[in-house]
Amino acid sequence: MTRSHMTNPQLPECHLTDTHLPNSAEVTPPELTALRRRYRLERERRVRPDGAAQYRDADAEFGYYAADPYIEGPVERAPLQDTVDVAVIGGGFGGILAGARLRQQGVERVRVVEKGGDFGGTWYWNRYPGVHCDIEAHVYLPMLDETGYVPEWKYAPGDEIRRHAMRIARKFDLYADALFSTGVTALTWDEDAGSWTVSTDRGDAFRARYVVAATGTLTDPKLPGIPGIEDFEGHTFHTSRWDYAYTGGTPEGGMTGLAGKRVGIVGTGATGVQVIPMLAQDAAHLYVFQRTPSTVDVRDNRRTTPGDVGADREGWARERRENYLRIVSGESAETDLVADAWTASAGLLEKLLPSFRRQGDREAFEAAYEVADAAKMNELRSRVERTVTDPETARRLQPWYRYACKRPTFSDLYYPAFNRADVTLVDTADTHGIERVTADGVVVGDTVYELDCLVFATGFNVGTSGIHSGRLPVHGRGGVQLLDRWARQGPRTLHGLTSNGFPNLIQLGPLQNASSVNFSHILDEQAVHAAALVAAAEAAGARIEPSREAEDDWLATLAADAPDHEWFHAECTPGYYNAEGRGRRNGPGGYPHGAVAFHQLLKEWRDTSMGEVLRPVTAPDA
Ligand code: NDP
Repeated sequence: MTRSHMTNPQLPECHLTDTHLPNSAEVTPPELTALRRRYRLERERRVRPDGAAQYRDADAEFGYYAADPYIEGPVERAPLQDTVDVAVIGGGFGGILAGARLRQQGVERVRVVEKGGDFGGTWYWNRYPGVHCDIEAHVYLPMLDETGYVPEWKYAPGDEIRRHAMRIARKFDLYADALFSTGVTALTWDEDAGSWTVSTDRGDAFRARYVVAATGTLTDPKLPGIPGIEDFEGHTFHTSRWDYAYTGGTPEGGMTGLAGKRVGIVGTGATGVQVIPMLAQDAAHLYVFQRTPSTVDVRDNRRTTPGDVGADREGWARERRENYLRIVSGESAETDLVADAWTASAGLLEKLLPSFRRQGDREAFEAAYEVADAAKMNELRSRVERTVTDPETARRLQPWYRYACKRPTFSDLYYPAFNRADVTLVDTADTHGIERVTADGVVVGDTVYELDCLVFATGFNVGTSGIHSGRLPVHGRGGVQLLDRWARQGPRTLHGLTSNGFPNLIQLGPLQNASSVNFSHILDEQAVHAAALVAAAEAAGARIEPSREAEDDWLATLAADAPDHEWFHAECTPGYYNAEGRGRRNGPGGYPHGAVAFHQLLKEWRDTSMGEVLRPVTAPDA
């Protein structure tokens, strides 16, 4: 076989330059030294010996926290044993886009299987008050060109996004065959039939000639592994299962059920930052249990008109999305169409998302990077001081770590909420978080905070959904289990999407490919690729399966220019970006030259080399 799939597209011959960094104020060497020391102390204060083991899995341990509050109960139906062309696991944007792109390729029987009661994925589950996407709607919402929809706000509320997900599903007729409130429990390849048997928790055992797995990355809610959660006698739930039957109101507020109630919320990540101002408005008293403060940058949300975004031109959304991807990937662009706090700080995302190949004086670049980082963090810390009137509360809300150690957040409502007399910030950094839950409330140090309602904004297990959770065994050719093989050899893919021994299985997600803060864009490119693979296999009467050599080549490509950012994450405050302080990012490395180059590589590969993974159905085992 040729190695043309190895060929990188023309990578920018980019010299290390601080022009990619935000303009920064002066930060003197003594200030930098002091900051380094302060960051180190804050990290040491927060690192816990139990790392990621500090959490409990809401689904496995507390069915209650993971149950679907948005439907009366699953629709009764008989188990299915029929055959479809493609089974798509997951009805979030990944699955919806896979379905839509398959339809565009003329595939007829596409069956999306989804745990939730409708399409939407993240946006199905996360309906907490204040929920918005903090990536600009005009680049985050996929298929705007195809659906003709123009978002109403620069940052869309969750409900608008969920409705858009359903709009795409309707437009591409994905409802007809969809199975909701259904979890896939096993995939088993039948070599003779040339199809997968898809088993589910509703007793289905249907066949699909192809499977696209789009099970998401941050889907399984987690709770702190502290004693007493099950003893709490007040009301409690996780933000991704908001209980409006208890709180009243809608994602826009008006939670009359909280009148007279003492409410506690644990967690101040991207979710907490959005929900806390809403709870502050409606609870009689709100206790915010914070362990690590987020960085909270300017939001500046506003209504937009189609004219504002040039939506009268054909292809406007694609152009805007590509422009955004270039900028947040650290590539040069003639103009910044989105122009927000993400793009202004894009140069400081380099440690989070591998971008293009950098040549030149790494040391000089890192020095400039650290200055820009310090200036940005100083600006964010001074934003707290300017907004929060109580100096002690302001001090506790200030983040002390480098910019991309924690996921950046954005809000103009968050800090003002702490100026209310009925909001109390409880800093739990010194006790490594809340220590115990009792029948009456939450214990931190010597104080019991008595509560009527306790909300967990404690996030999600990372990278453990679907196939990677171990709860969805995939038996490929010869009965080989995918995770068993990967446990021995490490994950093996071509482009992160297909694997030897697992024919006609395409996995979407961040594994061994490229990523971006605008993840719906990444998923769409993967969906286009998946649909092209299926169409090519159909046309050739072949099956999709990369050779082991193709996997080796891809792993070599990933390793060849892998950026060394481990030292950065090793110095970061703990979180899911660095395996709770263990010093490495979760999961295997991605494509080292960033998403723009990766998409170009995929396109060129489709044009020239796709035949390499199309194997005759009678081919001997590789
Ligand atoms: P995170 O995992 O980011 O945050 C969890 C929070 O819970 C952290 O503040 C954490 O503190 C805190 N916590 C955990 N255990 C304890 C404990 N024992 N005591 C006190 N505090 C505790 O979850 P989120 O739901 O906020 O966000 C998850 C991801 O979802 C985001 O990173 C983002 O990718 C995505 N998201 C995206 C949005 C968007 O607009 N695009 C909006 C919301 C979420 P600590 O930091 O110390 O660990």
